[in-house]
Amino acid sequence: MTFPIIRNAVIAALLLGGCAKAPTMDQNGNGTAAHRKEWAIAIHGGSGTMRRDAGPEREREYLDALDSALTIGRNVLAAGGTSVDAVEAVVRHMEDNPLFNAGRGAAYNRDGMHELDAAIMVGDTKKSGAVAAVREVRNPITLARFVMDSTMHSLMAGRGAEELADTAGIERVPDDYFHTSMREERWLEENGRGTVSAEAGEVEPDDASLDNRMGTVGAVALDRFGNVAAATSTGGLTNKLPGRVGDSPLIGIGTYADNASCAVSCTGHGEEFIRQTVAFRIAALMELKGESLDTAVTTVVDTKLRQGTGGVIAVDAKGNLSLEFNTRGMYRGAADSDGRFETAIWAKE
Ligand code: ASP
Repeated sequence: MTFPIIRNAVIAALLLGGCAKAPTMDQNGNGTAAHRKEWAIAIHGGSGTMRRDAGPEREREYLDALDSALTIGRNVLAAGGTSVDAVEAVVRHMEDNPLFNAGRGAAYNRDGMHELDAAIMVGDTKKSGAVAAVREVRNPITLARFVMDSTMHSLMAGRGAEELADTAGIERVPDDYFHTSMREERWLEENGRGTVSAEAGEVEPDDASLDNRMGTVGAVALDRFGNVAAATSTGGLTNKLPGRVGDSPLIGIGTYADNASCAVSCTGHGEEFIRQTVAFRIAALMELKGESLDTAVTTVVDTKLRQGTGGVIAVDAKGNLSLEFNTRGMYRGAADSDGRFETAIWAKE
């Protein structure tokens, strides 16, 4: 009967060990681990960020939100949970937070409605599940997980996906659940101009609308069993055409996981990521060219994506983490079994 006590003590020690916080982290977020970490996790809340002069309170709100999401993932992994459970739990939590453009805080499409995309993938079996342009599903990532675990399919879209949610008992909510005045204002602005907002930093530094350009949430993780996983969820671009699907639910584009290389979750201008096959390109550079995680991620972000179009988080099977972006900031966080626990918003100056 002493086993549970010992086990709890081990978990407590792990949790405490992981609590050493630093207020900022390097833009690359890369460690120099010679050894394989027991577990590691990176999260993002989009690569379009608030105005730099939005004030410390606003900044604190986002850092706290990242902190609680990262804590959820860290706790799952430190307690011996799987990477797929960790990334789903983190993304689900961020979907429920109106600060982020996913789930509750999703962007408005041209018709003032919300259509959501999400994907999840595991690196050992390479099984994946995704949903595209679904309406009235509170947690699209959980529906994506259901597609992966309980159907013969990889990607479900529109009405069929919504019916699947009903069959599975996955919570449906009316469209006005996704109403937030921040995103509505952004939509009215874009709609009036007849433009589409990339939710990323393709704007002038003094553009007042920057405060509303947060987009997409995602997580990548390595667990104690050596398996990587990735999950991404988004409301997509503000004022997008109804039926538009971005990069997030596309395997190999916005989301990917393979134990032979890495797990990747992207954020930014989806069409740009689709053109550049971003997530698989990073994995292919590692697997076929033998590049390190950091080199592969940096190469793709710096040389394939137009400046100001987005960012990437990735983890490899040794627990190295990479967090790269070419926008002015990316809401992000990283934690690992060596005690790292960091969240940040801005690019390093
Ligand atoms: N990548 C998402 C999309 O294009 C948006 C974002 O990450 O901000 O749908």
